[in-house]
Amino acid sequence: MCNHLVLYTYMKLTFCGGVRGVTGSCYLLETKAHKILIDCGMFQGDHALEYSQEPFDFDPKKIDAVILTHAHYDHCGRLPMLSKQGFTGLIFCTPPTKSLTSIVLQDAQHLMADNNHRMDTPILFDMADVKNVDDLINTMNYHTQFEIIPGVNVMLHDAGHILGSAFVVVDIDAKHTADSKARRIVFSGDIGNDKVPILPQTESISNADIVICESTYGDREHEPVDTRMTKLRDMIKDVVGDNGTLLIPAFSIERTQELLYELDRMIDDKAIPNCPIYLDSPLSIKATEIYREFSQYLRFDRDIFTSPDRDFFSFPNLHVTLTVDASKSINEDSGPKIIVAGAGMINGGRILHHLKRYIEDSRSGILIIGYQAEGTLGRKIFDGQKKVHIYHDPFEVRAKVSAIGAFSAHGDRKKLKQWLATCSEPIGQIFLVHGDTDVKENFKIYLGKELATNIEIPKYWQSFEW
Ligand SMILES: [Zn+2]
Repeated sequence: MCNHLVLYTYMKLTFCGGVRGVTGSCYLLETKAHKILIDCGMFQGDHALEYSQEPFDFDPKKIDAVILTHAHYDHCGRLPMLSKQGFTGLIFCTPPTKSLTSIVLQDAQHLMADNNHRMDTPILFDMADVKNVDDLINTMNYHTQFEIIPGVNVMLHDAGHILGSAFVVVDIDAKHTADSKARRIVFSGDIGNDKVPILPQTESISNADIVICESTYGDREHEPVDTRMTKLRDMIKDVVGDNGTLLIPAFSIERTQELLYELDRMIDDKAIPNCPIYLDSPLSIKATEIYREFSQYLRFDRDIFTSPDRDFFSFPNLHVTLTVDASKSINEDSGPKIIVAGAGMINGGRILHHLKRYIEDSRSGILIIGYQAEGTLGRKIFDGQKKVHIYHDPFEVRAKVSAIGAFSAHGDRKKLKQWLATCSEPIGQIFLVHGDTDVKENFKIYLGKELATNIEIPKYWQSFEW
């Protein structure tokens, strides 16, 4: 069915984000009568401020619906701007994504207001816009086909990336048009890593004419998942054993919960020295509550109910510091400890305050457990820069720096290829998005050797019509 695209019903796809680096995911899908967006994410990293202030190249008032793959800010972050500029249609996502999106957008608004106060950066949306987005969200569960607008049927499948994450199968239905067959287009959103201890595996694609596929790690393969526990344990032993402080920049959603789960297990097994562990991120704390609330969407790799405390995200020496005062009180603890604080790419949040204190301490450590976008402080530290600026002050990086790729919430190139290969028939066309330029080029070559498919790397605002 994939080789006869000219016979299918009219469709136009425009890449409105997610093509300059790994952030700002936003794709406009048009039929003759309707316009829908898949994701409407914020730009992060290099040029974030400049890109995020650019106007949409479409009229938000004319968008009929939005499908949201998951709650990460680079997929949902411009929804309040869309609402502010006149969008009044419905937004569709899974129930956990709705709850997580709400706290992600609230947190972003607080951070924006704080940055505005400190550095006079713009405030792109206010709390009323965030509330409007919440009101527009309609939840739909996995595997339920839903005609979101006449002629456009949508089904969500578990992407195994974060709680509630989905890849989206859109069927443009021929029965509402005169000119021919249905067409299936699949948007990957973000595809999860393999063997994530708290999430189901990514589901298969049954078939697709067109796939829009993320490429975050399209040029590399993660170390085996089994080594993550070993590396985490060794880094904790090394730093805490040296009376240092281990800073773990937290990606509030997913990585933090996986980390808590692993720490809980290591403490149960007495695999690491006993020391205070601070969860110093309001967003992480709230997200963890949502993980508890929607635990039926999680899959654990062990029987969590045999855990002595029967709570997979909590343990006796975990200190949750929700308020600013509680956060400041961590400074009074001069002993060895672990601090998990946001933001994950060290581009804002409480981690910066802790970093100022410990980055020049050679006994301390910084453990990176997620993707670091170009231009972020996290990327500079990850790349081994020895001198960095925190806010406007210069610092030398003397703390030990380590990274665990297996903690990534994204599948590597092998996983992405396997996911694409789950299609029962050859895919007509694959578009690679959501990756750095050279990564997408490498991924295209890698996939081209394995899949006999037309593979395209679209440019910003480029459109394709069928
Ligand atoms: Zn994501």
